[in-house]
Amino acid sequence: MRVRIVTGDITRQDTDAIVNAANSTLLGGGGVDGAIHRAAGRELLAHCRKLRETTLRDGLPVGKAVATPAGRLPNDWVIHTVGPNWHQGQREPRLLASCFRESLDAAAVVGARSIAFPAISAGIYGWDPAEVARIAAETVSADNPTWADIDEVRFVLFNEELTSVFEEAFGIPRG
Ligand code: ADP
Repeated sequence: MRVRIVTGDITRQDTDAIVNAANSTLLGGGGVDGAIHRAAGRELLAHCRKLRETTLRDGLPVGKAVATPAGRLPNDWVIHTVGPNWHQGQREPRLLASCFRESLDAAAVVGARSIAFPAISAGIYGWDPAEVARIAAETVSADNPTWADIDEVRFVLFNEELTSVFEEAFGIPRG
């Protein structure tokens, strides 16, 4: 599994799957969630509504992940995960680690060979980006046989500063 760290927009990646930092309602929100729903169109929202009417009546819990088709996006799948909200006292690293782990598990289940992550919880949800990067690095580096067919894990950061924080956490020299 190759890790790449890039600066860019998660809605413009050529990976099989992209990860949405969603909220528990799955019905859209601000930040990266809003950008993904805007780019994907109504079809993505319809898939999410369907989940709320069937298997996820109470919404998606923090730390969990679920895959849907990606609507108009160039990807096959959107994997929705709910990061912990620092402002609401959700401050345990294992909750954020679970988002990365469960998203990779969901990608493996649908057969995605490449996946792009945003900096989950590092925006509106208020986590320190360095802590997010550290947890991402630790979780993704685990030798997990479930992820054997995932060739690329890409972290797509919205600005250069955040990119540097991730590069440092993953021990990748500035390129
Ligand atoms: P959360 O609520 O989980 O904190 P946010 O969407 O507020 O999620 O922010 C998560 C990260 O995603 C932030 O670093 C934010 O700058 C970044 N972000 C926002 N829009 C995009 C986008 N289109 N592509 C990649 N990253 C984005």
